[in-house]
Amino acid sequence: MHLIFFRGEGTKGQPAFRESFSKLGELRSIVPEGTPVLALTASAETKHRDRVTKLLHMEAATQVTVSPNRQNIRLGLGSLSPNNLSSLDWLVEMIKEKELSLPHVIIYCRTLKTVGRVFCHLKAELGENAWVDKDHKSDNLIIGMFHSNTLPQNKERVLKSLNGEGNCKIIVATTALGMGLNFPNVSHVVLYGSPEDVEAIVQQVGRAGRHGQQSHAILYIQATRDDAVKDVVAKAKKSCFRQALFSYFENDTQSVKPGHLCCTFCHSQCLCERNGCPEPIPLYETLVNVKSPPQKSRNVTSSDKQLVQDLLEEYMESLGSQTKQVFTSKAMCTGFSVDLIVAVLEHCPFIFDLNYIISNLPVFRVEHAREILTIISEVFGDIDSAQAVQEEECLDLDINFLGYFDEEDDDFEITTQYSSQESLFM
Ligand SMILES: [Zn+2]
Ligand SMILES: [Zn+2]
Repeated sequence: MHLIFFRGEGTKGQPAFRESFSKLGELRSIVPEGTPVLALTASAETKHRDRVTKLLHMEAATQVTVSPNRQNIRLGLGSLSPNNLSSLDWLVEMIKEKELSLPHVIIYCRTLKTVGRVFCHLKAELGENAWVDKDHKSDNLIIGMFHSNTLPQNKERVLKSLNGEGNCKIIVATTALGMGLNFPNVSHVVLYGSPEDVEAIVQQVGRAGRHGQQSHAILYIQATRDDAVKDVVAKAKKSCFRQALFSYFENDTQSVKPGHLCCTFCHSQCLCERNGCPEPIPLYETLVNVKSPPQKSRNVTSSDKQLVQDLLEEYMESLGSQTKQVFTSKAMCTGFSVDLIVAVLEHCPFIFDLNYIISNLPVFRVEHAREILTIISEVFGDIDSAQAVQEEECLDLDINFLGYFDEEDDDFEITTQYSSQESLFM
């Protein structure tokens, strides 16, 4: 269905990827009349379903639909500051508290870079708690990454754990995790940044709670270009999230009763007992942004910025010459990108210690964070070195997982996916 609609017709002003996909309905003219035709799809908005039915000339066909609205998933809504990962503090608390009884959690991110940032942030915040044992081998690590470039042995570790044989409970992933797979035991799905459309939201939400037990899906919203996603989010802030989302897929969506099991909004309105609702608001809604914004700041002139930029570029160059060029780009080789330099320049009024760098900038290696701090310290000369060193001790970024981030953007998954399919057709 996605091939017919999205690839056959083109959307959002883009030309069609394969116009002939939208003409698949014509195939029916070359088979004998009465030949049975079956069209199948995963989650599909009502209006997309109608459009595809027309394109396939199957208006008269019987439609069998199963609602994607699963009642055992509570829908949470939180906001996300792109430069601050503190909205995941509840998860760090939950991991520390539950340890071995920790349920499976999938955190879906839009880009490979965000996967790396979230993974490193969690690992740094968890410290020793990131492993089930004192032995820091990868099998004992409770967090993992999954995306199109994940090494096969890491993919296997994550998939085994999701099927109940392993210690990896928190998986930070792109949509590469999920296609054609079924994980029964996922209790929380976090959508870290709004997916590109409402169908993607429903697909990711639907990875939670397949065991039938009470589960949670939490959407951390970010600026989005998709009108339907904007509409859902705007409605979910002041009315039932479930109704706002699933009205795109079915008629007459009802809120789950009692309201505390339905969504953020219905929980806030819940009067399930005479004295009000006794059910506490989940940590993922109460622990948002508990960290205060940066207190300290400095004045930065344009010549200061220029100097910081020159020093960072010099450092990036030096990395490139040290590394054997086995990947396609320098950023991929070294994990030090032009984006990182841009981010440092933007944040340089607030950078006073390593924690700030790790939490707010797209940095993947602790030695890079140290070098950034050194450069900032040299240029401005106002860093309290005792505090910076003290905080350094609690940081332990693992570079073994980090050699394969690159400069690709949101479209990376799609491009990879379709370029491989394209070769199948040729
Ligand atoms: Zn609701
Ligand atoms: Zn209640």
